[in-house]
Amino acid sequence: MTDTIIARCAAKGLRMTGQRRIIAEVLESSKDHPDVEELYARASARDDGISIATVYRTVKLFEEAGILERVDFGDGRARYEDAEREHHDHLIDMNSGEVIEFVDPEIEALQEKIAAKLGYKLKGHKLELYGVPLKKDEN
Ligand SMILES: [Zn+2]
Repeated sequence: MTDTIIARCAAKGLRMTGQRRIIAEVLESSKDHPDVEELYARASARDDGISIATVYRTVKLFEEAGILERVDFGDGRARYEDAEREHHDHLIDMNSGEVIEFVDPEIEALQEKIAAKLGYKLKGHKLELYGVPLKKDEN
């Protein structure tokens, strides 16, 4: 059980203004991988005084504090997810932009094996797969 984003901000000594708190709550309740504009839309629905610049600065602050992880799905837009979420990899549907999360023990083990072969102990990785849905006759 991990602490909430707000609790982790407090533990890191970040000063939590009302607007930062709202942005943290929006992030907490986001199960997808929002970019700054999507976060801005969700946060300004709760407080229309929030500017996109504030959202931008706040996610940057949270990222630097290790609370958020930045992900990039190849379209040049920085997206964010909670850094404390269980490790997973992403498959991006190139037609719809939908992002599917998965964990595959074979891939995890293979990466550790490759790192060890190169003389390293693996401490983390990022894997993004890009694909289009199979047509029925390609199955
Ligand atoms: Zn994810």
